[in-house]
Amino acid sequence: MHSIQYSRAEIEAMVEEADNAGLYVSAHVYTDKSIRRCVELGVRSLEHCNLIEPDTAKLAAEKGCIAVPTLVAYDALALEGEALGLGAAEFAKIDTVRSGGLRSLEIMRDAGLPMAFGSDLLGELRKYHCMEFELLAKVLTPAEIIQSATLVGAKLCHLEGKAGIIAEGAFADLIVIDGNPLSDISLLQGDGMHMPVIMANGRVVKSRP
Ligand SMILES: [Zn+2]
Repeated sequence: MHSIQYSRAEIEAMVEEADNAGLYVSAHVYTDKSIRRCVELGVRSLEHCNLIEPDTAKLAAEKGCIAVPTLVAYDALALEGEALGLGAAEFAKIDTVRSGGLRSLEIMRDAGLPMAFGSDLLGELRKYHCMEFELLAKVLTPAEIIQSATLVGAKLCHLEGKAGIIAEGAFADLIVIDGNPLSDISLLQGDGMHMPVIMANGRVVKSRP
């Protein structure tokens, strides 16, 4: 939990090599110290960030970083951890990042640090993917959450103007929602339960009469 893991020289080398290849570095970071080191050295995508502090969030915003909070990862582990064989020490770590997660959303929003939607769920736990919406809604507005899953996600993936937007020249990825998600974000949950029509790249892939 308190280990930084990579030296400055190592991170610098990774950032330089990624930049040479026209790419950027994404780091899985929890503690304020590790996030700060990554931000200072040019890492662009900051996954998790549960224990970020305001000064680091401000610096990350200034440097053009994008954070990817993944609150559901810890709630899913809390729900299923016992069956997965996790012990008391693992549960204590999960509690730390879980309670820090909601605070981190406030800190990052107030600092103007953009957040992209993510879940970090693996294997069987993927079924909890949509729960991320309700966890984010404890702090963020529906509009902020929708932007994180569309515009900000597209920006992070270098797909601005292509994904996450309805515009000429963009991928025709569209969903029809049975209701107004700006007043009820839970409409985005349930694995498409409230989405009668889904279009991917101009083709209708789901159409429920
Ligand atoms: Zn991770």
